[in-house]
Amino acid sequence: MTAPTTRADCVRLDEADPLAALRDEFAVPDGLVYLDGNSLGVRPRAAAARAAQVVEQEWGHDLIGSWNSAGWWELPGRLGDRLAPLIGGGPGTTLVTDTTTSNLFKALAAAMTLQSSAAPGRRLVVSERDNFPTDLYVAAGLAELLGQGHELRLIESPADLDAALADGPAVVTLSHVNYRTGALWDLADVTARVHAAGALVVWDLAHSVGALPIDLSGADADFAVGCTYKYLNGGPGSPAFLWVHPRHAGAGTSALPGWWGHARPFAMESAFEPAEGVGRFLSGTQPVVSLALVECGLDIASCADLAAVRAKSLALGDLFLDLVEQRCGDHPLTLVTPREHERRGSHLTLAHPDAFAVVQALIARGVVGDYREPDCMRFGLTPLYLRFVDVWDAVDALADVLDTRAYEDPAHRTRSTVT
Ligand SMILES: *Cc1c(COP(=O)(O)O)cnc(C)c1O
Repeated sequence: MTAPTTRADCVRLDEADPLAALRDEFAVPDGLVYLDGNSLGVRPRAAAARAAQVVEQEWGHDLIGSWNSAGWWELPGRLGDRLAPLIGGGPGTTLVTDTTTSNLFKALAAAMTLQSSAAPGRRLVVSERDNFPTDLYVAAGLAELLGQGHELRLIESPADLDAALADGPAVVTLSHVNYRTGALWDLADVTARVHAAGALVVWDLAHSVGALPIDLSGADADFAVGCTYKYLNGGPGSPAFLWVHPRHAGAGTSALPGWWGHARPFAMESAFEPAEGVGRFLSGTQPVVSLALVECGLDIASCADLAAVRAKSLALGDLFLDLVEQRCGDHPLTLVTPREHERRGSHLTLAHPDAFAVVQALIARGVVGDYREPDCMRFGLTPLYLRFVDVWDAVDALADVLDTRAYEDPAHRTRSTVT
């Protein structure tokens, strides 16, 4: 695509956009260009009424009867079945439950213990140094906790994966899209290489689910986890998901076996007997209010063809990069994200020496991106509610902040707890 040179060109792109109508399903604040949906998605309009229904009717009026009458007990599995098509999972393979961190703990522990019996000599767990910190903490913590001599090896770049695979790892765990750089792994190709090396793979889909087509079954992956509050618009801290390939669901052991994962929870037996299938990875009572709201985001995501979502995400990204080149070419900006379509996810990262203050100055102009250490500005492209004119307006603001050196204002240099 050659870059439109006027805002009117962007308006025409929006008029031709097959996903344009979905924006009406979201409560996007007036005048805001929101480029942080990869961190916390915008609220679906329906979420307010659904929250009121859960709080006032289901909790407020029906109280404990709602476990049955409102289907609270079945929510993790029912929402899992609704999410599964977005990740290429069949029915009964996916749960919406707990956090990404705790699901990763369960998935990784299951993969590591499966390998401890299947391939007892293997003690290596491979990940990337640039992976999201929680993923690394979980992997390192488990390696120590299991007390079986596991070693965590972190590769420095994608090119190092083959060397690590040659050392016969037990498990490889990677984020499909890198949270900081936006770089995308080829999920099918990596899964095949990991399997050829005799290892199991655990994917973190936090930054890809809802943003691009994913086919875990087609790739024959082993385990996957991810967030619902990013591209799936489930709400702040909404429960995460866990997908387990059916070949492992009946054999894998949960490292957090709780009563929700028991074969007969209400028999209240003193010994744990895992439920058939993925249900054994449930632990305890779920945050029902938050869990119920996940469905509002899934309702919208289920309407959208993921190929169209991906096409629009790439078109928004190309537009953003072309405009930045045209309008901000004189400034010390470096593209951190790979530019090739097949190697990038749905957010773009630009490095700038004053990245933190530039992001703050943009926020003051109603353009919300975010900052990541050490010098990265992230701009999330969420095709369900972002317009081409929003990209135009965002780059317009960026060019202004850079040209006027607005970021030098001391007001933009103060850091709050959450950056
Ligand atoms: C956002 C994100 C998480 C967040 O995990 P929580 O348990 O929800 O805090 C984990 N991993 C990756 C790769 C992420 O991008």
